[in-house]
Amino acid sequence: MNLKDHIREVPDYPKPGILFYDISTLLAHAEAWHETIERLAVVIEKEKPDVLAGIESRGFLLAAPLAMRLGMGFMMIRKKGKLPGKTIPFTYDLEYGTDTIEIQEDAIKPGQRVVMLDDLLATGGTMEAAVALMQQAGADVRRIACIIELNFLKGREKLGGLPVTSLIQYD
Ligand code: AMP
Repeated sequence: MNLKDHIREVPDYPKPGILFYDISTLLAHAEAWHETIERLAVVIEKEKPDVLAGIESRGFLLAAPLAMRLGMGFMMIRKKGKLPGKTIPFTYDLEYGTDTIEIQEDAIKPGQRVVMLDDLLATGGTMEAAVALMQQAGADVRRIACIIELNFLKGREKLGGLPVTSLIQYD
């Protein structure tokens, strides 16, 4: 099955000049979605992770079913202010201004093996920050996995040589 056929390309969203790769059509297609999860499961299982970390919000759509499928825990990396209790924040630079992501303090124990998930790797800025946050919390980040990678933005070069798995690439 060609998973690319199930990605909807939406021009000029959310701003003029951006081509948005919409996974809603993939999620809505039972077979294509099943195959997406199974193909990622094969790669992730080999890392023997203790926990899968999903980046808000479309990363949750991957990390939660994969964690259940593989019999491991799932944790959320969220935008600031969404998680109760003590959190570990991480602030990173955007083109204009900054953004902050956080995890709950007890979400990860030092040395735990983690695979990180998001729907799409573009410039890599979001994933770079998420990896830095997890490493600051003591995680042993083993791999990054996503559905789509925009090769021309060279996001993986920001990720310190960590292995990256993507199922669909655009050049
Ligand atoms: P980046 O930090 O540039 O790698 O952007 C990655 C994040 O932004 C991911 O969480 C994606 O969901 C979202 N994103 C960036 N570019 C696109 C795009 N062209 N289509 C869909 N989502 C995108």
